[in-house]
Amino acid sequence: MTEQLCSEDAYLRSCDATVVDVRDDGVVLDRTVFYARGGGQPGDTGTLRWDGGLARVTDTVKAGGDVVHQVDGDAPLVGQTVTAEIDWDRRHRLMRTHTALHSLSGVIFREYGAKVTGGNMDDTGSARMDFELDQMSQDMARDVEAKLNEELAKNQPVHVSFLPRVEALADPDLIRTKVNLIPDSVDPIRVIDIEGIDKQADGGTHVKATGEVGTVRVVKTESKGKAFKRMRIQLEG
Ligand SMILES: [Zn+2]
Repeated sequence: MTEQLCSEDAYLRSCDATVVDVRDDGVVLDRTVFYARGGGQPGDTGTLRWDGGLARVTDTVKAGGDVVHQVDGDAPLVGQTVTAEIDWDRRHRLMRTHTALHSLSGVIFREYGAKVTGGNMDDTGSARMDFELDQMSQDMARDVEAKLNEELAKNQPVHVSFLPRVEALADPDLIRTKVNLIPDSVDPIRVIDIEGIDKQADGGTHVKATGEVGTVRVVKTESKGKAFKRMRIQLEG
């Protein structure tokens, strides 16, 4: 089991760690600052450095409880001490994007009562979210964009907590976002609470307050079918 430091502190950029396994698909450390791909958020990229060597990490994935760093070139040896460092600018943009998406889902639920059915983001500040909605007009897109930016500008704090499973399953906000679908073995459940905007179980990395997201544009709306509408957003800057 890799200790995942970003789960408690998304602002850690590097850490020292020990190589515990080198497999066909990459390097496993005892602890890491790298985020493993999941929940619509891409895996981190960066470097592993050690005495006399350096490897580029091109992606990070999960394998059971392990975090696997996919590397380009020679890997360090098992037992070696390495410095693991993420590409911070890229990760910070992903944190801003992830917090923007959760805020978007909160605004759309509050204003239109619509639930989220899926979401995804890339490292360019672009993201999409799918909603259980029959209509999504241009007027609605402009209205959502204005309200979303209004909420973000309030610089609401973003809290990370670990709730006992029984408590999470009894929380109305978490029920709305389908906390019951999380496997029984997950306890406690990690919760991201964007104060006053959105609260949901989530494994991703987020900024500490919404002001850090900046301004978001709604760039596209699409109909993918009945009760299936998609909204694309883009971070400015
Ligand atoms: Zn999320």
